[in-house]
Amino acid sequence: MNTYGHSLWFGVEVAGVTDAPGDAVTVALHAERLGFNVVSFPDRVAEGGFDAASLAAWAAARTSTIQLAVSRFRTLARPASVAARGAASLQLLSGDRGMLVLATLPAAEDLNAVEEAVAVVRAMQDTTRSRVNSPGTHHGLTGAEPGPALEQEVPVWLNGSNVAAAALAGRVADGWVVDLDEVGVEGLVKLNAVLDRAATEAGREVGEVRRVVTLSGEEVFDIDGLVALSVDHGVSTFLVRMTGAAGSVDLLRRISDDVVPAVHHAVEAELAPGALSSRRLRRADVRSRRRAAIGYDEVPESLAERAVEPGDPAFGKVRSTYLRGGNPGLVLRPRSASELADALGFARKHMQLPLGIRSGGHGISGRSTNDGGLVIDVGALNDIKVLDQAARLVRIGPGARWRDVATALQPHGWALSSGDYGGVGVGGLATAGGIGFLSRKHGLTIDHLRTVELVLADGTLVRASETENPELFWAVRGAGANFGVAVAFEFVVDEVDEVGWAQLAFQAPDPASYLEAFGRVVAETPRETTPFLILGQGTAQIMAMVDSSDPDVIVAQLQPFAEIAPLVQQQVAVAPYAAVMNMFPETPHHGRGEPVSRSAFTREITPGFASASADLIRSGASHWYQIRAVGGAVADVPSDATAYAHRDANFALAVMGGNAQRLDRWFEPVRWQSCGLYLSFESDRHPDRITDAFPPATLDRLRRLKAQLDPHNLFQDNFNIPPPTTPGVPHEPRH
Ligand SMILES: Cc1cc2nc3c(=O)[nH]c(=O)nc-3n(C[C@H](O)[C@H](O)[C@H](O)COP(=O)(O)OP(=O)(O)OC[C@H]3O[C@@H](n4cnc5c(N)ncnc54)[C@H](O)[C@@H]3O)c2cc1C
Repeated sequence: MNTYGHSLWFGVEVAGVTDAPGDAVTVALHAERLGFNVVSFPDRVAEGGFDAASLAAWAAARTSTIQLAVSRFRTLARPASVAARGAASLQLLSGDRGMLVLATLPAAEDLNAVEEAVAVVRAMQDTTRSRVNSPGTHHGLTGAEPGPALEQEVPVWLNGSNVAAAALAGRVADGWVVDLDEVGVEGLVKLNAVLDRAATEAGREVGEVRRVVTLSGEEVFDIDGLVALSVDHGVSTFLVRMTGAAGSVDLLRRISDDVVPAVHHAVEAELAPGALSSRRLRRADVRSRRRAAIGYDEVPESLAERAVEPGDPAFGKVRSTYLRGGNPGLVLRPRSASELADALGFARKHMQLPLGIRSGGHGISGRSTNDGGLVIDVGALNDIKVLDQAARLVRIGPGARWRDVATALQPHGWALSSGDYGGVGVGGLATAGGIGFLSRKHGLTIDHLRTVELVLADGTLVRASETENPELFWAVRGAGANFGVAVAFEFVVDEVDEVGWAQLAFQAPDPASYLEAFGRVVAETPRETTPFLILGQGTAQIMAMVDSSDPDVIVAQLQPFAEIAPLVQQQVAVAPYAAVMNMFPETPHHGRGEPVSRSAFTREITPGFASASADLIRSGASHWYQIRAVGGAVADVPSDATAYAHRDANFALAVMGGNAQRLDRWFEPVRWQSCGLYLSFESDRHPDRITDAFPPATLDRLRRLKAQLDPHNLFQDNFNIPPPTTPGVPHEPRH
């Protein structure tokens, strides 16, 4: 009986590519259209011929679903590091359809070279290491840079019809390819047993190695033979050898009509239901990096394909956030509300583990990653769609970035007040507030929200608006992270023409007096202008947006700021809002360590606030002191209309440092002068920060709702609002 569990694949091996490479691609196209799974291009470099990786990359550009194997690849023909980069590039270019099949010859030297090459190819894909050192006679490497970072590892198969090749495949490969007419069924059975034994001795599961046979055009029509190979001997991939394009369409069509369905049908009838799985069985070395507390084999089928574990090549891309280094045990990446419900079901079975919810990965507290826990990343839910042109109603997924939102709205002459940085995700910001460059004129991001769809802790999908689940709608606008995972937001956006955009740099030897003067100017400035001030030791920088395209209005509203202190540099432009959001390109998230950030709101910049701030800046405990003007339209909304309650604050402060204790020593005096804080700029998770963020009446209301919607406190990792204790309902803090 088939014991290896792989789904059945049919493929084509295209020979004769040296003479007619175009034919090889033609065959690949036919094969793809007819539903074949793999096309294999034999390498001819060792004979002075064609480089199969280049050919496969060419085929990748013309095809879209079929897997592309670079096969019969002689490892002594070029350095393994070069082969590794070629295979990884093919993987990127093809959208994870690449595959490398190394040829093995019986000579010991060749087998050693193959084994070393496999190690190098794998190590070069592990971007969690900074350098690759691989000892070896043929493919030794010192200090090579790994990469490029991949989503899926390139499977490495070995081709070889002898005992040594089978044993090596058992020890190290993801697949083993054997020519059936060379070994016959009897030989296959013997070699299969060798492979199984070698795999077991190496501590692997025998199912880690896919069994592949190559067949001639005639052999493939022996349907009973193929069924027996699959059912009795675990062969799950049949590769038909083909010499060129001539006659290929007819032959492939006959195979796809007469052979493929018949074999599938017969094999499935023979085996127990579910015996053939499309789920990847990770190699033992990948599984060895798993965390004991996580039930990896119970990951729901809907999420398994895109789940990322610590040993996977994509882990380097998903482990950390923009600001925080992380090492989660599993990252689940749902693409729909129902997949998200599955992910939350899995998380409920792991209540003891940290749970990070991630949209854009820009959270300042960094809780969308963790150490050893789960992360649910809804970044794939990133659609932006106009629902109603006349009403300016736009539906946006949590994984969209504010730069993409601004870019999508610009052609309509619209903008949605968001923040100051285009890379920030919609999910985190639109569930907390959204203090941005248009806030004084247009309010917070949450003030534009009309409906939100969330998946709750129990997996239920709900809509919340003023009329549906209004209490949840109230809570999501300021404290959303505690109640569910948002999967879609519907906003009414504003008509915004081009805006005035200014960057002014000053000498500011006396930070306290500069701050006070800034506060006075802001108080006199019309709400079209929203300035953010970054204050340093001796310098100040204002970035301001004026919601007007009229140069006279822009200059008039900025002039008082320009007069606060000696200007050393200025730049003022009229530009689309989208251009400001696109100022900085997004870079991969490789945050390290713990972010240390503190937040405070203040109604005005009093002498006490200014002097405590000046002491903080001079102390050197903070490398980033930014104060933003809020007020205006933000304050038009009653403080009990949303969970974001500090509507009367005219300024929002964000301060970052390297050392929490040192920063707190200097920040405390600033906090005494303040009135609450904005959780999105905070990283201290002391319970006092919750009471700073939410006034008592707001917090009471939030806790009551939490008891209804998340009584077990699944969502507790980012500024937890603990539900009131209910007898019989455990909700212990995780850490
Ligand atoms: C460079 C930078 C600039 C910033 N500028 C601004 C600014 O101008 N204005 C402003 O208001 N904020 C700003 N912030 C703060 C930012 O808004 C918040 O940190 C926000 O949470 C980031 O959202 P995200 O989806 O990118 O983050 P993530 O790290 O993905 O998420 C942060 C947290 O939000 C929660 N969350 C994420 N997705 C969801 C979801 N779909 N449903 C429910 N909860 C979710 C989780 O608790 C998560 O821990 C800035 C942050 C950075 C790093």
